[in-house]
Amino acid sequence: MRCEKCQADVPEDEIYGHAGMKLCEDCYIAALTRPQPCDPGAVSAARTARELQGQKGTDGLTPLQKKIYDYLKEKGKATREEIAGALGISPEELQNNFAVLRHCELARACKEGDAIYLTLM
Ligand SMILES: [Zn+2]
Repeated sequence: MRCEKCQADVPEDEIYGHAGMKLCEDCYIAALTRPQPCDPGAVSAARTARELQGQKGTDGLTPLQKKIYDYLKEKGKATREEIAGALGISPEELQNNFAVLRHCELARACKEGDAIYLTLM
């Protein structure tokens, strides 16, 4: 198998699926831990879609996304590992759902020292 990011040739059991790509372990971890660049287009598209549907705050979120939101509301801020552990979900699942919260401008990631925390807007 070939990593779709760095083109490294890796054994099939060391390939990880991430955002529709097949990645080697290094690229997978980098993709999970690297702060995602802001995407103003995605943010305004998400906001427009929600406004059209009359959604505000946590309206229209899935139960899991609401759980992440509520967890951050209670804790103020938390690392991805803490949230994934507390909610019993995989880091990838958290990443996908957190992206929705971010695009709805409900939550964001911030870096403190070497740690990346997720927090509400
Ligand atoms: Zn790779």
